[in-house]
Amino acid sequence: MSTLLDEDERALRDSVRSFLDKKIAPLVADHERAKTFPWDLLPELYEFGYVRGGVPESAGGDQMSMMMQAILMEEAGRCWGSLRTTVNVQGMVARVLAATADEGQRERFLAPLLAGKRFGWFGLTEPGAGSDAGSLRTTARRRGDGYVVNGSKLYITNALGCDFGILFVRVLGDDGEDLGVTGLLVDSAESTFGVHDIPHMPLRSTTSCELTFDDTFVPAANVLGEVGGGLRLGMSAINSGRLNMAMGAVGLSQACLEASITFCQQRQQFDRPIAAFQLVQQMVVEIATLTETSRLLGYQAARALDAGEPGRYECSMAKYYCGESVQKAATLALQLHGGAGLMEESPVERYFRDAREATIPEGTSQIQILHMGKHLLGHSAMR
Ligand SMILES: Cc1cc2nc3c(=O)[nH]c(=O)nc-3n(C[C@H](O)[C@H](O)[C@H](O)COP(=O)(O)OP(=O)(O)OC[C@H]3O[C@@H](n4cnc5c(N)ncnc54)[C@H](O)[C@@H]3O)c2cc1C
Repeated sequence: MSTLLDEDERALRDSVRSFLDKKIAPLVADHERAKTFPWDLLPELYEFGYVRGGVPESAGGDQMSMMMQAILMEEAGRCWGSLRTTVNVQGMVARVLAATADEGQRERFLAPLLAGKRFGWFGLTEPGAGSDAGSLRTTARRRGDGYVVNGSKLYITNALGCDFGILFVRVLGDDGEDLGVTGLLVDSAESTFGVHDIPHMPLRSTTSCELTFDDTFVPAANVLGEVGGGLRLGMSAINSGRLNMAMGAVGLSQACLEASITFCQQRQQFDRPIAAFQLVQQMVVEIATLTETSRLLGYQAARALDAGEPGRYECSMAKYYCGESVQKAATLALQLHGGAGLMEESPVERYFRDAREATIPEGTSQIQILHMGKHLLGHSAMR
């Protein structure tokens, strides 16, 4: 829907789409099969504003509007779910660093991240703390000139493959008192901890890791911002992360639509292209309608953030609606492809698997409903 975008926004969409179609799309099938990711190509993508777009110029970023960033995520989602997830997490790490890192931390972590020379993970979820992230139990106790960390994290995207991460821990005082959730920068080059990839269904070119910390030493110079200020930090990154996930789902719906149109025009049954059958047209139109309505909600959330509004309600609605819609879009696309849709050589087999992720990370659909319910009704249904 070009009428929703101004000239600069359309130009960005067209140029990034052309780059992704030519340079990245031909690599996807092989990487998915091998479960690898072309990290070396990311710096070229950052030139469009991926990762750097969410960072102020004063911190070395490109400081793009949320609308421009939404377009980038939509196009990444249209091309490859593993790419969208990877740049989304790098962007979250970059935004947290830009908001809190001191001079030394910016030099060590943010500058190389924005240059595409180092990569980071975002470690909030734990085996016992998922939707209720604030109940996390990984602890850090002061020892000498640093902290000793004990605990574990779960489903951490690309921890295997990244150089450092933002680890959210509960800092304990000398008498074991809770000093609050705090962000620590954990550099694989200086701290020892366990990392293993958990085999998973979607996003085959990412790792989804369990991290274990057993008396892991982290220097005090790696504390991000204030001790006790970590949860606010993590949650602020997640708000725009939600919009990014929503826009990734819009792009994936768009990919489902394009693949379905191509297939239905080519596939012949009963001596006609299946595109000529009314029930087939109904499914294609349903995907198109889901895609456009999702896009409208995503763009609305981006415009709200650009207008200086908190945008939490709009981002939750976009995450909820786009995440649920892409389930239907991918299911219909697979149905339209018949048996071919279940074969790995068909792109819709991957779309179907990747779509399934859209309702879970960065707040499940149910958690988005609870946020919106509180906004509308003034009562929290969470506790
Ligand atoms: C592919 C993938 C990548 C991820 N990447 C990262 C990452 O990089 N970093 C990170 O920190 N985390 C990451 N996560 C974790 C993700 O954020 C959590 O999976 C998510 O927050 C849900 O937590 P959970 O899986 O523990 O589910 P749970 O919280 O146990 O939820 C289970 C079910 O209960 C429902 N539920 C829970 N509470 C309520 C409630 N109050 N009311 C109604 N229903 C409720 C949920 O909606 C869900 O349906 C990732 C997850 C996945 C799947």
